[in-house]
Amino acid sequence: MSSDRVRCVECREPIVGDARVCPHCRAVQPSPLLDVGVVVAGVFALLFGVVLAVMTAGTSRLFGLALLFVGFGLAVGGYTRYVDRQAASRAR
Ligand SMILES: [Zn+2]
Repeated sequence: MSSDRVRCVECREPIVGDARVCPHCRAVQPSPLLDVGVVVAGVFALLFGVVLAVMTAGTSRLFGLALLFVGFGLAVGGYTRYVDRQAASRAR
């Protein structure tokens, strides 16, 4: 993920990083706030997963480990997207 241009989620045309609506097809773009929400949800899943994996055994422990992986993926993915957007809007 090294592209510093944001592309429309619908028509894949390059658009400015902080545009809310695509100038080509008028599709609403996912906002950076959504990324922050994803990161927060991921961190909560991560914490909950750690608690489950440490405090419990058996099936709920496996569930906790799964939550841990999912939460980690969400947090890292959301954070990467957020940083990408920040870099794209600063590059202009
Ligand atoms: Zn578009």
